[in-house]
Amino acid sequence: PASTLDELVALCKRRGFIFQSAEIYGGLQGVYDYGPLGVELKNNLKQAWWRRNVYERDDMEGLDASVLTHRLVLHYSGHEATFADPMVDNRITKKRYRLDHLLKEQPEEVLRRLFRAMEVEEGNLHALVQAMMTFPERAGGAMTAAMVVDPATGEPGDWTPPRYFNMMFKTYVGPVEDEAGLAYLRPETAQGIFINFKNVLDTTSRKLPFGIAQIGKAFRNEITPRNFIFRVREFEQMEIEYFVRPGEDERWHRYWVEERLKWWQEMGLSRENLVAYQQSPEELAHYAKATVDLLYRFPHGLEELEGIANRTDFDLGSHTKDQEELGITARVLRNEHATQRLAYRDPETGRWFVPYVIEPSAGVDRGVLALLAEAFTREELPSGEERIVLKLKPQLAPIKVAVIPLVKNRPEITEYAKRLKARLQALGLGRVLYEDTGNIGKAYRRHDEVGTPFAVTVDYDTLGQGKDGTSKLKDTVTVRDRDTMEQIRLHVDELEGFLKEKLRW
Ligand code: ATP
Repeated sequence: PASTLDELVALCKRRGFIFQSAEIYGGLQGVYDYGPLGVELKNNLKQAWWRRNVYERDDMEGLDASVLTHRLVLHYSGHEATFADPMVDNRITKKRYRLDHLLKEQPEEVLRRLFRAMEVEEGNLHALVQAMMTFPERAGGAMTAAMVVDPATGEPGDWTPPRYFNMMFKTYVGPVEDEAGLAYLRPETAQGIFINFKNVLDTTSRKLPFGIAQIGKAFRNEITPRNFIFRVREFEQMEIEYFVRPGEDERWHRYWVEERLKWWQEMGLSRENLVAYQQSPEELAHYAKATVDLLYRFPHGLEELEGIANRTDFDLGSHTKDQEELGITARVLRNEHATQRLAYRDPETGRWFVPYVIEPSAGVDRGVLALLAEAFTREELPSGEERIVLKLKPQLAPIKVAVIPLVKNRPEITEYAKRLKARLQALGLGRVLYEDTGNIGKAYRRHDEVGTPFAVTVDYDTLGQGKDGTSKLKDTVTVRDRDTMEQIRLHVDELEGFLKEKLRW
């Protein structure tokens, strides 16, 4: 695996996986573009998720809701009031930080002074942040007195009282920029699922339990985007809202934690780099009954890859009409605008109730970063040289097969290779690349680095013009394996079956 983020960033840039957005103008902070290889890897990951969660199950429907979000959706979901991170400024450097991130980076003695000043039990960082947000004036003074260090300079700062910063991006729909046209870019894909609950239920006649799955962009104006594509302002989520009967929620929550843990391992992440972390009661979001975070050992630390929450009847209960008739257990805002009942009528008793929801919510970009980190391998070759290999699961690799002509200046060979490329491409296994840049050794090296599992070489033997003067190797090619570097010779007719077998899901 990669030992630092920097070596991944360098590889991603060098080979065309991921670029800083608008780099030619100095870069837009916290926003990245996926290049020719990155887009393939990301699409492969998303397709694998969709295949497993929508196609291979009999209790799931897909959805693709809009990014532009009606203001009332994010009002009643609670985002307008509470989707905010604590923020603090250094008056000297004018640098701004997310409070919890800043505290995590402080030397122990600084933290000890803060715990004492805020009268919080030492070691409980979560409680410290809460106390600081409850008494912001005192907290600002305490931070300055405790000599909280500004990571940008390494010097103690003069800190403002911390305050909340709402992370939602606002925009205006229509030609007039006024309050009436205010809308948001969605900060999570989930709300699009909840507000379509009745549409999906009515059009598919689903019975509980069933789920709705969605992949799409989400936007958060993070105070301090960092760690490459780990924390960004524009990202993608793969989310499931799985609707169950109250009382069956705990069992389904456990089920989804296991299911998701298994899936990430199938994608190539190793078990020892994954941790299922059960949030403590004080860490839980106000609407959650239980949350398990799947953490991954990223090069920059053990951090969240996916969250799996038991959200009870909070979401549908927040957006439904007839709230008082439905026996909602969660604490929801009184909804004065909803026009539909987001509830379920028990087919046996005829009684209406609001389903509970289990939400496995994964970040696509964090998934890509984890896959890259896990796959990144430095190997010493017998010759003493070093090679970098991206040991991605072959099905996820951006390029499945590179077809390489042994020489570039023999039309018979290059034409053969191009025809073979087209034939392999038609198998539908993913991207097949015709590759005639540089020599064979360089091509192998490049494809090792981007994780191409198979390199197929067309040579004189393929044309039936072998050195031994016979044509017994006609229509055979060499197939080189990325991981073992071993080469075998296969007839092109066998090659199809070989690749299908190796690359099928
Ligand atoms: P964090 O605590 O790291 O900010 P979160 O708990 O706010 O994350 P959720 O709201 O649970 O995240 O979002 C679900 C998933 O979406 C996360 O597990 C993560 O994979 C992804 N995600 C959230 N915020 C970002 C971001 N700024 N950049 C990239 N991915 C993100």
